Amino acid sequence: MRNFSLLKDELSTPRKIVVTTHARPDADALGSSLAIYQFLRKKGHDVQVITPTDYPDFLKWMQYEQDVIIYTDQKEQANELIQKADFIFCLDFSGKNRIGEMEEPVFKSNAEKILIDHHLDADRFAKFELWVDTASSTCELVFDFIKMFQEPDAIDVGIGECIYAGMVTDTGSFRFASTSKAVHLIVAELLEVGINHSKVHQLIYDNNTECRLRLLGHALSEKMTILEDQHTAFISLSKDDLKRFNAKNGDTEGVVNYALSMEGIVFAALFKEADDMVKISFRSKGDFPANLVAKNHFNGGGHRNAAGGRSDVSLSDTLELFQSILPEFKSDLERNYAETH
Ligand code: 5GP
Ligand code: MN
Repeated sequence: MRNFSLLKDELSTPRKIVVTTHARPDADALGSSLAIYQFLRKKGHDVQVITPTDYPDFLKWMQYEQDVIIYTDQKEQANELIQKADFIFCLDFSGKNRIGEMEEPVFKSNAEKILIDHHLDADRFAKFELWVDTASSTCELVFDFIKMFQEPDAIDVGIGECIYAGMVTDTGSFRFASTSKAVHLIVAELLEVGINHSKVHQLIYDNNTECRLRLLGHALSEKMTILEDQHTAFISLSKDDLKRFNAKNGDTEGVVNYALSMEGIVFAALFKEADDMVKISFRSKGDFPANLVAKNHFNGGGHRNAAGGRSDVSLSDTLELFQSILPEFKSDLERNYAETH
């Protein structure tokens, strides 16, 4: 890590620290934030996790989750903490604009920034940086970061279960190519510490509401389009669809993976209509560059196999645009189809 020994020195006396992560936090974002929070608190620092927006209910079991401040709910208090902080940990994002309305206060604050992240194309804004774009997850890097302090028993069950949650979700339950030997060795160590891995799986994956499951059923049976020749499937959910199933934050997470799981499909997308934009999730198999589609056409980015972006035109225009750009990726689609089937 860049400047680690300096950071270690600076953290040897109690500091005011804010920990933040990207908007609409997922398990890796919230898990890494709460793991760092618990570690720094045990070291005697005054720490606060502030997320730009709310996060799904199926993450609310994490230890100390109730201590998190949500920026959109408590702006005044959050701004004061950000302004007074000595250090701001930026976790699981490296594009400044991924923290929504928090971008301005965070990057105006004089606090030193510490970046821990695994996304491609980082904005190099931090003095202290643990940025490894081949890492499975930010939680994997947070585990490494805590280990660098060489403090025995630093990782306890509460921290370990947060770290495990991010690792299991960001690797698609240890399926994706990013699942390295190091990932399994960390998991072995977490089991040694005493985490309950099947409990974590159940809390994350077996916690569907009836509405969420029925929304998934609707999405797959009524709202999925398959472009067989292009090895592509996409799902679009309008505001009406989301309202009809009373969709909450996080209810559409994972829906896009079902489209990708189909035989013959190399590239999948989910289009979700919101008030001011269409939010898009992309997933791909092989080396099909989902992040390039997101970056070149939908104001976004991400990883090769999991990326996202947005569109500011209507849902139907967005779907048309999407279909019109697929020919540009024809050879990538066909090669990956041949290689993965
Ligand atoms: P998801 O589809 O789960 O929302 O996002 C998958 C991945 O795509 C995220 O881990 C992140 O790397 C990337 N991503 C999602 N939305 C955006 C976005 O609006 N901008 C950028 N740069 N990346 C995004
Ligand atoms: Mn992540």
